[in-house]
Amino acid sequence: MTFSPRVTHLAPEGAYAMLSRAQALEAAGREIIHLEVGQPDSLTFENILQAGIQAIRDGHTRYTPSAGVPALRQAIAQDAGRRRGIAFKPSQVVIGPGAKPALFYPTLALVRPGDEVIYPDPGFPTYEAMVGVAGGIPVPLPLREEAGFSFDLEAFDSLLSEHTRMVILNSPSNPTGGVLSLADLEHIADAAIEHDLWVLSDEIYSRLVYDAPAASIASLPGMAERTIICDGFSKTYAMTGWRLGYGIMPEALAERVGLLITHSVGCTADFTQVAGLEAIQGPQEQAEAVVLEYRRRRDALVAGLNAIPGVRCQKPQGAFYAFPNISALGRSSSWLAEYLLEEAGVALLPGTAFGKYGEGYLRLCFANSLENLLLAVERMAEALRRL
Ligand code: PLP
Repeated sequence: MTFSPRVTHLAPEGAYAMLSRAQALEAAGREIIHLEVGQPDSLTFENILQAGIQAIRDGHTRYTPSAGVPALRQAIAQDAGRRRGIAFKPSQVVIGPGAKPALFYPTLALVRPGDEVIYPDPGFPTYEAMVGVAGGIPVPLPLREEAGFSFDLEAFDSLLSEHTRMVILNSPSNPTGGVLSLADLEHIADAAIEHDLWVLSDEIYSRLVYDAPAASIASLPGMAERTIICDGFSKTYAMTGWRLGYGIMPEALAERVGLLITHSVGCTADFTQVAGLEAIQGPQEQAEAVVLEYRRRRDALVAGLNAIPGVRCQKPQGAFYAFPNISALGRSSSWLAEYLLEEAGVALLPGTAFGKYGEGYLRLCFANSLENLLLAVERMAEALRRL
């Protein structure tokens, strides 16, 4: 079959592939600890569940405007603006089924064939995929472990060219847990203004921070008009399967992105949007308590990993992933991920699932019980001793 070059580069996400491998082992009777998929282990909070169920009963089961229901766009503009110290208009907010549309559609709307897009590597696999679909050239930027997985700013400067159209940021980061410092954001913002670039700032983990808040580049002078913020409900409110996210961007771009939604998915499910309104306007205690719990798990997992000979793990500042350096073990990260699945019954991802600069690392999601995390570390230590 012959395909358009728009799709020939697409590959499955590593997490889905590993999950199905792990499930096949489970079907054969093995007991597996799942640290591969990045989603909260808790169910959607009760008040949100109830709001969604009631919304279905109340008839919120029909089309909505493509960019989202006005009440939710307004609530998002207020809430996301207050958290970042920026005044947003509801017309700048576009709601979509998940945060992914807020990455994909602005990229389709802005990136022309031949345009270069700088993105973090290791990074979320959708970045490279969507730039390719848009006909752009993905330009991977290595992250620096010794700088808390921040950008290598010298490398960043050297990658800028007359063809650069957009820079993608993800702070806190999947898979590293790194948070970009204000100084690094200022450097990137200066470059964006000087070279007239767009910045796509994926802030889906902005509420999951453990030591200090993560700044948004959109709040820096001159940046709101060239930044697209991508955020959503999946991680903060344990709503991955509801599919609800949003982008905040300049109005003219929001209009184009709304049209892409009109002509692709049409709109986001109405009852999901009603549930999202409750998520924002209802009590926030549970969302805040979850962060404290994740921090406890992070500390235990990182300490456990650092006690394994040959493994070195930084403390992630945000998101819910540990990204240990395993290069001293002398095996590739994909070999080790396979080995740990088979020998330790621990499903995790090789760093290379997030790009070539992920070699030498593994990613473990710590949105799992403390008990499972400690057991996973124990089993990993034992299996790695046998290497
Ligand atoms: N951005 C990053 C960095 C992610 O890790 C994810 C999900 O794993 C997303 C975006 C997509 O979020 P959603 O499931 O809301 O589309």
